[in-house]
Amino acid sequence: MLDPFKIDGNTCISLSGGRTSAYLLHRALQSNGGLPDGTLVLFCNTGKEEEATLRFVRDIAEHWQVPVTWLEYRLGGSFQVVDFDTASRSGEPYEQVIQQRNGVLPNLRARYCSSEMKTRTMHRYLRSLGWTDWETMIGIRADEPRRAAKFRFNPHPETKAEYVRVPLVDAFVSARDVGEFWQAQPFDLALPNIKGKTMHGNCDLCFLKPAAQVLSLIQEKPERAVWWAEQEQKAEGVAHGDGARFRNDRASYAQMAAFADQQTDMFDQDEEAIACFCGD
Ligand code: SF4
Repeated sequence: MLDPFKIDGNTCISLSGGRTSAYLLHRALQSNGGLPDGTLVLFCNTGKEEEATLRFVRDIAEHWQVPVTWLEYRLGGSFQVVDFDTASRSGEPYEQVIQQRNGVLPNLRARYCSSEMKTRTMHRYLRSLGWTDWETMIGIRADEPRRAAKFRFNPHPETKAEYVRVPLVDAFVSARDVGEFWQAQPFDLALPNIKGKTMHGNCDLCFLKPAAQVLSLIQEKPERAVWWAEQEQKAEGVAHGDGARFRNDRASYAQMAAFADQQTDMFDQDEEAIACFCGD
């Protein structure tokens, strides 16, 4: 069988800041004897990541001696290259993408946050380097069949210029394999790994996380709700219907903040997170 991690031609490795995509990078480095020419490792910061995620991305570059390019979305559909020290920590790229959409919030029907701040931001950067076609490796595991099927069915979800590869699926890598790998490393993401899932990963209170999880993250650190509640408050004045709230099928962030010191069992404890590109 061909090595699914072998790289041939312009390739972008998408690092989400989670353990899975970092493991993907490790396997790619192993299979190719380092980072081949014409391969870039990109991390897109939304400004709503946990500090531990930013430290993990920095540590990966240092421990594995691999350059990681940090990108952020900028108003007008552009991007900015940043680094660990200059990366936004207060949701600035996210607020700019909302502003670009005239204050309409991303929501279940229009999840533009991920595509604009991550996928398209990477594409804009790669095109700025003169890339016209390339492959992108993303960290989807074999135990995420629905996410994998989406890219199998359509490996060009955004543009024909890009072919999306899911090598961890081809290599039958599961959450357990990823967990075991990180347990044996001298550094790790300093966020809890619960049954292979990192509840704190990606944007801290991402609206695709189950409500009970969002509530528990607010209980753990109430100030997490402030930014999200502020965005909803601003959107109420300019948007209607879906775009006025991140989720109009459940409590607002302000309401969740108010519930936070009550019981969590008002929400479905078995609700699954909704998959998106952001991933682990
Ligand atoms: S983690 Fe959630 S809120 Fe953040 S960009 Fe991805 S889908 Fe949007």
